[in-house]
Amino acid sequence: MSTQKIKVGILGATGSVGQKFIQLLSDHPFFEITEVAASDRSAGKKYKDAVNWFLPTPIPDAIANLTVKNCKPNLDCGVVFSGLDANIAGEVEEAFAKNGYHVISNSKNHRFDKDVPLLIPEVNPDHLGLIKVQNFGKGSIVTNPNCSTIGMLIALKPLDDAFGIDQVNVVTMQALSGAGYPGVSSLDIIDNVIPFIGGEENKMETEPLKILGNFNGKEIELSTFKISASCNRVAVVDGHLESVQVKLKNKPSKEDILSVWKNFKSEPQEYHLPLAPIQPIHYFFEDKYPQPRLHRDIDKGMAVAVGRLRDCNLFDYKFSVLSHNTVRGAAGGAILCAELMKVKGLLS
Ligand code: NAP
Repeated sequence: MSTQKIKVGILGATGSVGQKFIQLLSDHPFFEITEVAASDRSAGKKYKDAVNWFLPTPIPDAIANLTVKNCKPNLDCGVVFSGLDANIAGEVEEAFAKNGYHVISNSKNHRFDKDVPLLIPEVNPDHLGLIKVQNFGKGSIVTNPNCSTIGMLIALKPLDDAFGIDQVNVVTMQALSGAGYPGVSSLDIIDNVIPFIGGEENKMETEPLKILGNFNGKEIELSTFKISASCNRVAVVDGHLESVQVKLKNKPSKEDILSVWKNFKSEPQEYHLPLAPIQPIHYFFEDKYPQPRLHRDIDKGMAVAVGRLRDCNLFDYKFSVLSHNTVRGAAGGAILCAELMKVKGLLS
């Protein structure tokens, strides 16, 4: 097998997700960043001068002096990770795919295209088969779901497989970094909770039906369980905490649920992918856990922390789930998608 790294570009490299891509890819065994691109405001500048870097690790030396390019499909790379603003992501990503690039996107624009996988590598790796149906020539588009959806579905997938999901209700407490940079004004969020995140509830109520849908070789047949979401912005920097209530088709015991969570593993673990968490779900028995500040970084920020499984008077069970929104829910999740594509020969 070739040990040469695949050249990758970051679209939206100066943003909140873009910075995470750069941090996570700085010493990656499969990928090497050769291009960074952003808006006209940043293009032409050195990366270190264009970005308002706010991560606790320094800008990697190999990236600091790269010149930021425009988001045009003439970059020296074969794969682009997109952390673009949704206002422009749709057309830019399509232009890259049509010009032979493999696009892995965090933006919402292509998530519901019939031929585009909405991928969580542990949950629906078979949906990568949709790439064969795409009409981008040598290029392709794969999308990463909404950050809150990813955490919730990693916890729900083993329950769906074992017992069948009937209904879900979820209330989220979402971190500030999910709103990008500079995001929510400090005067809006200090001493406060905002009970609205534009578009978020609709994403959480629709994306799971595609992700847990059945790929029949040509298209995804949407899952039909009912789901209701209420999304809140809270004064946490990173890490979305969610309270989930679930009704299952075949009601299991709590021990059965704990057992399927403990044993849940999938293709990223089987392939030993570099960013794959060794164990995707960490269950905490302490009543006060999981908590964003304490548990968002478990296993490189790629595992989800689950706790407080208990009976529910309305549904069968309720529990809490926590995941790192810019790692598992964005850049890290997208890189894991690309790692899976690479070992399956889909990035050539
Ligand atoms: P952000 O911090 O606002 O960054 C947006 C990026 O897009 C910046 O690099 C910006 O470049 C670039 N951009 C804006 N307008 C552009 C234009 N006209 N042409 C080219 N580039 C342009 O946003 P973010 O939080 O990183 O989110 C990026 C995407 O990921 C969004 O679609 C978001 O919904 C999604 N997402 C975010 C999270 C999260 O936790 N933050 C999680 C999942 C998905 P300049 O710096 O040059 O303006």
